[in-house]
Amino acid sequence: MTTEQLYQRFSEHPSVSTDSRNIQPDSLFFALKGPNFDGNQYAADALGKGAAWSVVDDPTLPDNEKFIVVENVLQALQQLAAFHRKQLGIPVLGITGSNGKTTTKELIVAVLQQKYQVTSTQGNLNNHIGVPLTLLKMNANTEIAVVEMGANHPGEIAELCQIADPDLGIITNIGKAHLEGFGSFEGVIRTKSELYNHLRKKKGACFINIDNELLMKQAEGLEQLTYGSSAQAQLRGELQASAYYLTVKALFPKGWLYLKSKLIGAYNFENLLAAARIGLHFEVDPLKIQKAIEQYMPTNNRSQLITKGSNKIILDAYNANPTSMLAALKNLESINQPNKMVILGDMLELGPDSSEEHQKIADYLNQQDFETILLVGKEFSAVQTGTKTKKFDNAELLSDYLRQQKPLENKLILIKGSRGIKLERVLDQI
Ligand code: ATP
Ligand code: MG
Repeated sequence: MTTEQLYQRFSEHPSVSTDSRNIQPDSLFFALKGPNFDGNQYAADALGKGAAWSVVDDPTLPDNEKFIVVENVLQALQQLAAFHRKQLGIPVLGITGSNGKTTTKELIVAVLQQKYQVTSTQGNLNNHIGVPLTLLKMNANTEIAVVEMGANHPGEIAELCQIADPDLGIITNIGKAHLEGFGSFEGVIRTKSELYNHLRKKKGACFINIDNELLMKQAEGLEQLTYGSSAQAQLRGELQASAYYLTVKALFPKGWLYLKSKLIGAYNFENLLAAARIGLHFEVDPLKIQKAIEQYMPTNNRSQLITKGSNKIILDAYNANPTSMLAALKNLESINQPNKMVILGDMLELGPDSSEEHQKIADYLNQQDFETILLVGKEFSAVQTGTKTKKFDNAELLSDYLRQQKPLENKLILIKGSRGIKLERVLDQI
């Protein structure tokens, strides 16, 4: 079946399911393959549960008049999504980067929703399946699409650009994340820059942090819609000193506005300003931009502030890499309060640079004035540290240790590590 023919079916049944345990009534079921399953096995089951058609690629399946047989289901899904995107012809904003994609995306959506019908990536569904699924959620009412694009190997952003064909884009930043898959930091830079290459070909434009020299270099020759702290930025912002939550003072065409967020972490400065700049581009009223940012509440263990007794905890156990680790530590330093404690878990997926990167964080910690430093995980257990630091092989051992100590009081505690380390488990002991 050709993409046009499949599109005809999609027009009649404009929703898509990929999990037979969770079928949207009257949808197209795409029988995708995963490492441990083959959707073809569930194609009949999906029809029984209410799917209108099942798109399959196993020619040995028993005949069924409701099966649509294609060469490759994943490719069919991607081609359908690309075709749908072209049919709708609305602005598509692609967002990639090493850190802050989802946070920035959610802030952008909050801002744009003040004026438009927006379709955006759900949660973190940002890969070769998530991107087409996002695009296929767009309908005739959608005015703008905001698509998160993740990558952990070279070429991936180019592929996602083929599908989503963004005309606007943003790389939040380029840092040291997923080094394992990219081979090197150079590999990360090249891969993220694939978004700029696409925009250049398309004569699109990028939203860009003017303070980020690396990004500015990569974006040469591309139309740039800038934000940042320098006076040249089209939307200029200043970080306001504040206790926990981030406030940014930003210079809009009619004057300065305070953007007060419920976000923790100075590193969210650029995320927030990016969203405001994009709002301005789409002519959202600055007062509405301000309101959207004020009301946005982060979710998902991404930098939450938790109060337990007399302690304040910055919980950031969602992910960690050298760049975001350093950003979180710098943020902790910037908070004006004594009795700071740091609980850090391993940064996973760093490949051959792993021990060196963990050592760098340990060296950095050594120069800082934190009261207590607790490191968790195999990688951190192997680093050289100063005398204030204690090391634990895993979160359980740290929990045991904390249980035996006298209760913590009046501390400001940063908890950050890769998800695999499950640092949120130690919360019970604080
Ligand atoms: P993923 O690769 O999992 O999709 P992401 O790029 O979508 O991650 P977020 O989920 O928004 O990123 O944020 C994850 C963590 O990255 C945050 O909790 C924070 O520690 C860190 N982070 C967010 N924004 C920045 C930034 N601008 N610079 C450095 N670190 C950041
Ligand atoms: Mg994300």
